[in-house]
Amino acid sequence: MGQATRTTKLLLDLGQRRQGGANTGKRAFLAETVAQLTAARAFYIDFFLTHADKLAERVSYYSEKHLEMRERAISANELLTWAEACTVATKDHPHPWPGWNFSERFPDLPVVYRRSVIKDAIGKVRSYLSNRAHWEKSGQKKGKPGLPGASEHPTLYQGTCELILEEAQVADRFVRLKVYDGKTWRWANYPVRCSRYFQQRLGDLAWEQQSPLLVLTKQTAALHFPQTKRVQAKKVKESKRDPDLVTVAVDLNVKNLAVITVRQHQQIIETVFVSDHGLDQQRYRHLKRIAKKQWQSGKPVAGEHSNQQLWRHVGRMNADAAHQVAHRIAAVCAKYPGCVLLFERLRKIKPKGASKSRRMNRRQANQVRGKINQTAREQAYALGVVTVETNAHGTSQYCSRCGARGERFSLRGGVRIQAKWGKLFSCPVCHYEANADHNASVNVHHSFYQEWHWQPRLKRSG
Ligand SMILES: [Zn+2]
Repeated sequence: MGQATRTTKLLLDLGQRRQGGANTGKRAFLAETVAQLTAARAFYIDFFLTHADKLAERVSYYSEKHLEMRERAISANELLTWAEACTVATKDHPHPWPGWNFSERFPDLPVVYRRSVIKDAIGKVRSYLSNRAHWEKSGQKKGKPGLPGASEHPTLYQGTCELILEEAQVADRFVRLKVYDGKTWRWANYPVRCSRYFQQRLGDLAWEQQSPLLVLTKQTAALHFPQTKRVQAKKVKESKRDPDLVTVAVDLNVKNLAVITVRQHQQIIETVFVSDHGLDQQRYRHLKRIAKKQWQSGKPVAGEHSNQQLWRHVGRMNADAAHQVAHRIAAVCAKYPGCVLLFERLRKIKPKGASKSRRMNRRQANQVRGKINQTAREQAYALGVVTVETNAHGTSQYCSRCGARGERFSLRGGVRIQAKWGKLFSCPVCHYEANADHNASVNVHHSFYQEWHWQPRLKRSG
């Protein structure tokens, strides 16, 4: 049993007021809210760091199962109750600890928000303390963990956020948030950009929904809804014993972003080529412009982002391509329930070459490959498909038909040119010729089943 996760995003409309966006005042409230919650979180991080021994406390309890008194670590809920008793003024505890009066520093901070920042602080301090203990034990000088930071996207638990989507008018859809306006906490309505895809995803009963996070960037504000799904997937060892097992192998490249081959009963039953539709070329042209501008303007100024818009554009291009390819891979997996998805262990295409822009482009291509791998893996897992990373050694050099070592070549005006970067593959033994990426993709299956070149080596005796 495992768990698949995904995030469904809902953008708040911060556009023109006349076009239905939230006004600038309301934008400022969001920033104020995040700042206030960060300050509150910092307060509790300080508090727990000062009282670190409390986090290590053991609690004794009576175990019904073992019929005896036992000990366990103090739970997060118990810590929360204790922290509130020490820092918040109530009827029962009218005088918080001196120097730690939270009620005075943050008057009227809603209880739900307070509890959520306390929980954040407990998590951060706990992980810091365990990291530090680990570091001290290791005896190394370098790598001392830094103190935990207080900034984090606030979680909007029930009581701080109401999503109203049932209204018939699309233009009237909005979300109510409890925000800080600089003086007090109050409710404010924010129009949202809600599409039918969003509603489909959020209403999907197979996925369990968690409290959203408020994610604020320079340009945008959005609610991110984490969703989880329980997944029942077979262990790979079990699947490997199944004679009817289907394997889906993916070879990731630059021009052919992905070559997907499907194998069953030792035969390739489906092949899908996913081209990059000129992404590599276009990105190269953008990067050439960036490199030229950097060269013209000399050294980049510290603290100032140069070519911001171009970089953002390149980033979006990459993310978009990666997402589409991952989706295609997941769609192939969906056709063969119970299959296993195979990726090569990612080898880096080394960013070397003549020009700076070419090197930058290689680096970008590597990032896209990593992103495809990660996204496809997540999407496949939600379908119950497990991913295996196979040994990548030699997948592009050996013949996928007979296992002999072959060579790569290219055709220039009907003439064979032998080269390492050749698009085609040829085998000198069985005279098999094929697209080099396809050959590599088929070899990924061989690598998974440990055939030919990928046979486990016998251990020498004696
Ligand atoms: Zn061959």
